[in-house]
Amino acid sequence: MKTAFVYTDAYLNYDYGPTHPLRIIRLKLTYDLIRAYGLLALPSVESIPTNEATQKDLAAFHGEEYLNLLRQANGGRLTGSAYCLGLGPGDNPVFPGLYDFSLLVTGATLQAVDFVADGKGEIAFNIAGGLHHAMKSRASGFCYVNDPVIGIMRLLSRGKRVAYIDIDAHHGDGVQKAFFETSQVLTISLHESGNTLFPGTGFEYEIGEGEGEGYAVNLPFPPDTGDDVYVWAFEEVVPELIHAFQPDVVVTQLGVDTFYDDPLTNLKLSIFGYERVLKRIRDLAPRWVALGGGGYNISNVARAWTLAWAVMNGIELREDLPESFWKEAEKMGVKDRQLRGKPSTFPSVQNDENRVEMERVVHYVKETVFPKVKH
Ligand SMILES: [Zn+2]
Repeated sequence: MKTAFVYTDAYLNYDYGPTHPLRIIRLKLTYDLIRAYGLLALPSVESIPTNEATQKDLAAFHGEEYLNLLRQANGGRLTGSAYCLGLGPGDNPVFPGLYDFSLLVTGATLQAVDFVADGKGEIAFNIAGGLHHAMKSRASGFCYVNDPVIGIMRLLSRGKRVAYIDIDAHHGDGVQKAFFETSQVLTISLHESGNTLFPGTGFEYEIGEGEGEGYAVNLPFPPDTGDDVYVWAFEEVVPELIHAFQPDVVVTQLGVDTFYDDPLTNLKLSIFGYERVLKRIRDLAPRWVALGGGGYNISNVARAWTLAWAVMNGIELREDLPESFWKEAEKMGVKDRQLRGKPSTFPSVQNDENRVEMERVVHYVKETVFPKVKH
Protein backbone atom coordinates (compact mmCIF):
# COMPACT_ATOMS: atom_id res chain seq x y z
CA MET A 1 0.00 0.00 0.00
CA LYS A 2 1.24 3.50 -0.88
CA THR A 3 0.38 6.72 0.90
CA ALA A 4 1.21 10.38 0.27
CA PHE A 5 1.74 13.28 2.63
CA VAL A 6 1.43 16.70 1.01
CA TYR A 7 3.10 19.58 2.82
CA THR A 8 5.23 22.71 2.56
CA ASP A 9 6.76 25.05 5.15
CA ALA A 10 5.58 27.90 2.89
CA TYR A 11 2.27 27.82 4.83
CA LEU A 12 4.17 29.58 7.61
CA ASN A 13 4.60 32.68 5.44
CA TYR A 14 0.96 33.50 6.19
CA ASP A 15 -0.78 34.55 9.37
CA TYR A 16 -4.44 35.20 10.19
CA GLY A 17 -3.27 37.67 12.85
CA PRO A 18 -2.14 37.62 16.48
CA THR A 19 -5.60 37.29 18.04
CA HIS A 20 -7.10 34.87 15.53
CA PRO A 21 -7.75 31.32 16.87
CA LEU A 22 -6.56 29.59 13.69
CA ARG A 23 -2.80 29.38 14.10
CA ILE A 24 -0.89 28.16 11.09
CA ILE A 25 1.98 27.00 13.30
CA ARG A 26 -0.19 23.95 14.11
CA LEU A 27 0.60 22.62 10.62
CA LYS A 28 4.33 22.87 11.21
CA LEU A 29 3.97 21.24 14.64
CA THR A 30 2.06 18.35 13.10
CA TYR A 31 4.65 17.93 10.37
CA ASP A 32 7.47 18.00 12.93
CA LEU A 33 5.83 15.37 15.12
CA ILE A 34 5.09 13.11 12.16
CA ARG A 35 8.69 13.41 11.06
CA ALA A 36 10.05 12.91 14.58
CA TYR A 37 8.17 9.61 14.79
CA GLY A 38 9.82 8.55 11.51
CA LEU A 39 6.50 8.40 9.69
CA LEU A 40 7.74 10.09 6.54
CA ALA A 41 10.69 7.71 6.17
CA LEU A 42 8.54 4.61 5.70
CA PRO A 43 9.17 2.91 2.33
CA SER A 44 5.47 3.08 1.48
CA VAL A 45 5.28 6.86 2.01
CA GLU A 46 5.69 9.52 -0.65
CA SER A 47 6.33 13.06 0.61
CA ILE A 48 4.89 15.52 -1.89
CA PRO A 49 5.85 19.21 -1.67
CA THR A 50 2.80 21.42 -2.11
CA ASN A 51 2.28 23.21 -5.43
CA GLU A 52 -0.08 26.14 -5.84
CA ALA A 53 -3.40 25.56 -7.54
CA THR A 54 -4.29 27.85 -10.46
CA GLN A 55 -7.04 30.44 -10.63
CA LYS A 56 -8.77 28.11 -13.10
CA ASP A 57 -8.77 25.36 -10.48
CA LEU A 58 -10.50 27.70 -8.03
CA ALA A 59 -12.96 28.87 -10.68
CA ALA A 60 -14.28 25.30 -10.96
CA PHE A 61 -16.35 26.21 -7.91
CA HIS A 62 -15.98 29.88 -6.96
CA GLY A 63 -17.48 32.91 -8.72
CA GLU A 64 -15.25 35.16 -10.80
CA GLU A 65 -16.12 38.35 -8.96
CA TYR A 66 -15.33 36.74 -5.63
CA LEU A 67 -11.98 35.35 -6.85
CA ASN A 68 -11.03 38.77 -8.21
CA LEU A 69 -11.80 40.25 -4.81
CA LEU A 70 -9.63 37.64 -3.07
CA ARG A 71 -6.81 38.47 -5.48
CA GLN A 72 -7.16 42.16 -4.68
CA ALA A 73 -7.18 41.36 -0.95
CA ASN A 74 -3.89 39.50 -1.40
CA GLY A 75 -2.09 42.78 -0.72
CA GLY A 76 -3.48 42.72 2.80
CA ARG A 77 -5.93 45.59 2.45
CA LEU A 78 -9.70 45.69 2.26
CA THR A 79 -11.27 46.87 -0.97
CA GLY A 80 -14.77 47.95 -2.00
CA SER A 81 -17.20 45.08 -1.74
CA ALA A 82 -15.07 42.97 0.60
CA TYR A 83 -17.42 43.32 3.56
CA CYS A 84 -20.35 42.06 1.52
CA LEU A 85 -18.49 38.89 0.65
CA GLY A 86 -17.54 37.92 4.17
CA LEU A 87 -14.08 39.48 4.39
CA GLY A 88 -13.02 41.87 7.11
CA PRO A 89 -11.97 42.05 10.76
CA GLY A 90 -13.13 39.04 12.73
CA ASP A 91 -13.46 35.50 11.39
CA ASN A 92 -12.12 36.09 7.88
CA PRO A 93 -9.47 38.78 8.12
CA VAL A 94 -7.73 40.24 5.09
CA PHE A 95 -4.11 39.33 5.68
CA PRO A 96 -1.16 39.72 3.31
CA GLY A 97 -1.00 36.78 0.90
CA LEU A 98 -4.41 35.34 1.73
CA TYR A 99 -4.99 34.51 -1.94
CA ASP A 100 -1.56 32.88 -2.26
CA PHE A 101 -2.26 30.89 0.90
CA SER A 102 -5.55 29.69 -0.58
CA LEU A 103 -3.76 28.62 -3.78
CA LEU A 104 -1.33 26.55 -1.71
CA VAL A 105 -3.98 24.88 0.44
CA THR A 106 -6.14 24.05 -2.57
CA GLY A 107 -3.14 22.94 -4.61
CA ALA A 108 -2.25 20.43 -1.89
CA THR A 109 -5.77 19.04 -1.91
CA LEU A 110 -5.66 18.63 -5.70
CA GLN A 111 -2.28 16.89 -5.42
CA ALA A 112 -3.77 14.50 -2.85
CA VAL A 113 -6.75 13.90 -5.16
CA ASP A 114 -4.55 13.24 -8.19
CA PHE A 115 -2.28 10.86 -6.25
CA VAL A 116 -5.30 8.73 -5.40
CA ALA A 117 -7.16 9.14 -8.72
CA ASP A 118 -4.02 8.32 -10.73
CA GLY A 119 -3.77 5.04 -8.83
CA LYS A 120 -0.37 5.92 -7.39
CA GLY A 121 -1.61 4.94 -3.96
CA GLU A 122 -4.61 4.40 -1.74
CA ILE A 123 -4.40 7.27 0.76
CA ALA A 124 -3.23 10.89 0.68
CA PHE A 125 -3.30 13.46 3.49
CA ASN A 126 -3.31 17.27 3.19
CA ILE A 127 -3.30 18.59 6.76
CA ALA A 128 -3.70 22.19 5.53
CA GLY A 129 -6.97 21.43 3.72
CA GLY A 130 -10.54 20.94 4.86
CA LEU A 131 -11.69 24.57 4.69
CA HIS A 132 -15.29 23.44 4.51
CA HIS A 133 -17.23 26.67 5.24
CA ALA A 134 -16.24 28.72 2.16
CA MET A 135 -19.19 29.36 -0.12
CA LYS A 136 -19.23 29.87 -3.88
CA SER A 137 -19.01 33.67 -3.51
CA ARG A 138 -18.41 34.24 0.18
CA ALA A 139 -15.74 33.72 2.83
CA SER A 140 -16.99 32.11 6.02
CA GLY A 141 -15.70 30.53 9.22
CA PHE A 142 -11.94 31.12 8.61
CA CYS A 143 -12.34 29.68 5.07
CA TYR A 144 -11.80 31.62 1.84
CA VAL A 145 -11.59 28.86 -0.76
CA ASN A 146 -13.40 25.56 -0.36
CA ASP A 147 -10.69 23.01 -1.14
CA PRO A 148 -12.86 19.98 -0.27
CA VAL A 149 -15.45 21.03 -2.87
CA ILE A 150 -12.79 21.71 -5.51
CA GLY A 151 -11.11 18.37 -4.76
CA ILE A 152 -14.40 16.48 -4.98
CA MET A 153 -15.25 18.23 -8.26
CA ARG A 154 -11.88 17.09 -9.66
CA LEU A 155 -12.69 13.52 -8.60
CA LEU A 156 -16.12 13.73 -10.27
CA SER A 157 -14.55 15.03 -13.49
CA ARG A 158 -12.31 11.98 -13.41
CA GLY A 159 -15.33 9.69 -13.21
CA LYS A 160 -15.06 8.86 -9.52
CA ARG A 161 -17.93 8.32 -7.13
CA VAL A 162 -17.31 10.26 -3.93
CA ALA A 163 -18.50 10.04 -0.34
CA TYR A 164 -17.52 12.92 1.96
CA ILE A 165 -17.29 12.40 5.72
CA ASP A 166 -16.80 15.49 7.89
CA ILE A 167 -15.96 14.99 11.58
CA ASP A 168 -15.12 18.63 12.40
CA ALA A 169 -17.05 20.08 15.37
CA HIS A 170 -18.67 22.53 12.95
CA HIS A 171 -21.18 21.55 10.29
CA GLY A 172 -19.61 21.11 6.83
CA ASP A 173 -22.06 23.60 5.36
CA GLY A 174 -20.11 24.73 2.28
CA VAL A 175 -19.58 21.18 1.06
CA GLN A 176 -23.16 20.15 1.80
CA LYS A 177 -24.50 23.16 -0.10
CA ALA A 178 -22.31 22.53 -3.15
CA PHE A 179 -23.69 18.99 -3.60
CA PHE A 180 -27.14 19.39 -2.02
CA GLU A 181 -29.02 18.68 -5.25
CA THR A 182 -26.99 15.80 -6.66
CA SER A 183 -26.85 12.09 -5.93
CA GLN A 184 -23.29 11.94 -7.29
CA VAL A 185 -21.80 12.89 -3.94
CA LEU A 186 -22.89 11.57 -0.56
CA THR A 187 -22.07 14.09 2.17
CA ILE A 188 -22.12 13.02 5.82
CA SER A 189 -21.36 15.54 8.57
CA LEU A 190 -21.02 14.80 12.29
CA HIS A 191 -20.88 17.99 14.35
CA GLU A 192 -22.06 19.95 17.35
CA SER A 193 -25.67 21.02 16.90
CA GLY A 194 -26.36 24.26 15.07
CA ASN A 195 -28.41 25.29 18.11
CA THR A 196 -25.21 25.94 20.02
CA LEU A 197 -22.45 26.36 17.43
CA PHE A 198 -21.52 28.12 14.19
CA PRO A 199 -22.67 27.94 11.41
CA GLY A 200 -26.11 27.16 12.84
CA THR A 201 -26.99 24.55 10.22
CA GLY A 202 -26.62 20.77 9.82
CA PHE A 203 -29.88 19.56 11.33
CA GLU A 204 -30.95 16.00 10.67
CA TYR A 205 -33.82 17.13 8.46
CA GLU A 206 -31.38 18.69 5.94
CA ILE A 207 -31.20 15.65 3.66
CA GLY A 208 -30.68 17.11 0.18
CA GLU A 209 -33.12 18.24 -2.49
CA GLY A 210 -34.36 17.00 -5.84
CA GLU A 211 -32.03 14.33 -7.18
CA GLY A 212 -29.90 14.84 -4.10
CA GLU A 213 -32.64 13.94 -1.64
CA GLY A 214 -31.15 11.47 0.80
CA TYR A 215 -27.56 12.23 -0.22
CA ALA A 216 -26.92 14.83 2.49
CA VAL A 217 -26.71 13.33 5.96
CA ASN A 218 -26.34 15.18 9.25
CA LEU A 219 -25.69 13.98 12.79
CA PRO A 220 -25.95 17.04 15.07
CA PHE A 221 -24.70 16.26 18.59
CA PRO A 222 -25.73 18.14 21.74
CA PRO A 223 -23.02 19.96 23.71
CA ASP A 224 -21.03 17.73 26.10
CA THR A 225 -21.36 14.64 23.91
CA GLY A 226 -18.46 12.29 24.70
CA ASP A 227 -16.72 9.47 22.87
CA ASP A 228 -19.25 6.72 23.57
CA VAL A 229 -22.36 8.37 22.15
CA TYR A 230 -20.39 9.89 19.25
CA VAL A 231 -18.82 6.61 18.18
CA TRP A 232 -22.13 4.78 18.68
CA ALA A 233 -23.96 7.20 16.33
CA PHE A 234 -21.14 6.99 13.76
CA GLU A 235 -21.36 3.19 13.79
CA GLU A 236 -25.14 3.21 13.46
CA VAL A 237 -25.15 5.45 10.39
CA VAL A 238 -21.89 5.76 8.45
CA PRO A 239 -20.87 2.16 7.59
CA GLU A 240 -24.30 1.23 6.25
CA LEU A 241 -24.47 4.35 4.08
CA ILE A 242 -20.99 3.79 2.68
CA HIS A 243 -21.86 0.17 1.88
CA ALA A 244 -25.06 1.26 0.12
CA PHE A 245 -23.45 4.10 -1.85
CA GLN A 246 -20.25 2.25 -2.78
CA PRO A 247 -17.93 5.20 -3.40
CA ASP A 248 -14.67 4.89 -5.33
CA VAL A 249 -13.07 7.47 -3.04
CA VAL A 250 -13.87 8.71 0.44
CA VAL A 251 -12.88 12.34 1.14
CA THR A 252 -12.72 13.26 4.82
CA GLN A 253 -12.48 16.49 6.76
CA LEU A 254 -10.69 15.55 9.98
CA GLY A 255 -11.19 18.61 12.22
CA VAL A 256 -9.83 18.17 15.75
CA ASP A 257 -12.02 20.82 17.39
CA THR A 258 -14.36 18.20 18.85
CA PHE A 259 -12.08 17.55 21.84
CA TYR A 260 -13.08 18.40 25.40
CA ASP A 261 -10.32 21.00 25.71
CA ASP A 262 -10.83 22.80 22.43
CA PRO A 263 -11.38 26.49 23.21
CA LEU A 264 -14.07 27.16 20.57
CA THR A 265 -16.55 24.29 20.91
CA ASN A 266 -18.59 22.31 23.43
CA LEU A 267 -18.22 18.65 22.50
CA LYS A 268 -16.30 16.39 24.88
CA LEU A 269 -14.51 13.93 22.67
CA SER A 270 -11.04 12.64 23.37
CA ILE A 271 -8.28 11.41 21.13
CA PHE A 272 -9.46 7.84 21.89
CA GLY A 273 -12.84 8.41 20.25
CA TYR A 274 -11.13 10.18 17.36
CA GLU A 275 -8.84 7.19 16.84
CA ARG A 276 -11.74 4.74 16.83
CA VAL A 277 -13.52 6.73 14.13
CA LEU A 278 -10.37 7.02 12.02
CA LYS A 279 -9.73 3.28 12.13
CA ARG A 280 -13.30 2.68 11.02
CA ILE A 281 -12.93 5.13 8.11
CA ARG A 282 -9.74 3.35 7.07
CA ASP A 283 -11.63 0.05 6.92
CA LEU A 284 -14.58 1.57 5.04
CA ALA A 285 -12.74 3.66 2.43
CA PRO A 286 -11.59 1.91 -0.75
CA ARG A 287 -9.40 4.96 -1.37
CA TRP A 288 -9.06 7.90 0.94
CA VAL A 289 -8.29 11.60 0.46
CA ALA A 290 -7.83 12.98 3.98
CA LEU A 291 -7.96 16.72 4.69
CA GLY A 292 -7.33 18.67 7.88
CA GLY A 293 -9.84 21.09 9.35
CA GLY A 294 -10.49 22.94 12.58
CA GLY A 295 -8.54 22.51 15.80
CA TYR A 296 -7.68 25.38 18.12
CA ASN A 297 -5.63 23.58 20.75
CA ILE A 298 -2.38 23.16 18.84
CA SER A 299 -1.13 20.26 20.94
CA ASN A 300 -4.32 18.33 20.14
CA VAL A 301 -3.92 19.10 16.45
CA ALA A 302 -0.33 17.87 16.26
CA ARG A 303 -0.99 14.69 18.24
CA ALA A 304 -4.33 13.79 16.65
CA TRP A 305 -3.20 14.29 13.05
CA THR A 306 0.00 12.40 13.75
CA LEU A 307 -2.13 9.57 15.12
CA ALA A 308 -4.35 9.87 12.04
CA TRP A 309 -1.35 9.56 9.73
CA ALA A 310 -0.16 6.51 11.71
CA VAL A 311 -3.61 4.92 11.30
CA MET A 312 -3.48 5.63 7.55
CA ASN A 313 -0.17 3.77 7.39
CA GLY A 314 -1.14 0.92 9.71
CA ILE A 315 1.51 1.86 12.29
CA GLU A 316 1.22 1.69 16.07
CA LEU A 317 3.14 4.54 17.71
CA ARG A 318 4.84 4.53 21.08
CA GLU A 319 3.03 6.65 23.62
CA ASP A 320 5.95 8.89 24.61
CA LEU A 321 6.39 11.76 22.17
CA PRO A 322 9.92 11.91 20.71
CA GLU A 323 12.08 14.15 22.88
CA SER A 324 13.39 16.07 19.86
CA PHE A 325 9.79 17.13 19.21
CA TRP A 326 8.62 18.22 22.65
CA LYS A 327 11.77 20.16 23.39
CA GLU A 328 10.92 22.46 20.48
CA ALA A 329 7.14 22.27 20.93
CA GLU A 330 7.42 23.26 24.58
CA LYS A 331 8.57 26.70 23.45
CA MET A 332 5.22 27.11 21.72
CA GLY A 333 3.26 26.15 24.79
CA VAL A 334 2.79 22.43 24.13
CA LYS A 335 2.81 20.69 27.51
CA ASP A 336 1.79 17.17 26.54
CA ARG A 337 4.51 14.56 26.49
CA GLN A 338 2.24 11.67 25.60
CA LEU A 339 0.55 10.89 22.30
CA ARG A 340 -2.84 10.04 23.76
CA GLY A 341 -2.54 10.62 27.50
CA LYS A 342 -4.42 8.58 30.07
CA PRO A 343 -8.18 8.18 29.64
CA SER A 344 -8.60 8.94 33.34
CA THR A 345 -7.36 12.49 32.80
CA PHE A 346 -10.33 13.29 30.52
CA PRO A 347 -13.56 14.55 32.08
CA SER A 348 -16.13 11.85 32.61
CA VAL A 349 -19.23 12.79 30.69
CA GLN A 350 -22.73 11.85 31.82
CA ASN A 351 -24.36 11.02 28.54
CA ASP A 352 -27.85 9.73 29.28
CA GLU A 353 -29.70 12.75 27.90
CA ASN A 354 -27.39 13.01 24.93
CA ARG A 355 -27.84 9.34 24.17
CA VAL A 356 -31.64 9.70 24.15
CA GLU A 357 -31.39 12.70 21.81
CA MET A 358 -28.98 10.90 19.47
CA GLU A 359 -31.17 7.77 19.43
CA ARG A 360 -33.92 10.03 18.11
CA VAL A 361 -31.62 11.58 15.47
CA VAL A 362 -30.23 8.22 14.35
CA HIS A 363 -33.74 6.79 14.09
CA TYR A 364 -34.79 9.77 11.95
CA VAL A 365 -31.80 9.34 9.62
CA LYS A 366 -32.47 5.63 9.24
CA GLU A 367 -36.13 6.25 8.38
CA THR A 368 -35.60 9.10 5.91
CA VAL A 369 -32.17 8.64 4.33
CA PHE A 370 -31.35 4.94 4.37
CA PRO A 371 -34.11 3.91 1.90
CA LYS A 372 -32.93 6.55 -0.62
CA VAL A 373 -29.16 5.99 -0.80
CA LYS A 374 -28.17 3.56 -3.54
CA HIS A 375 -25.24 2.75 -5.74
ZN1 LIG B 1 -14.50 23.43 13.10
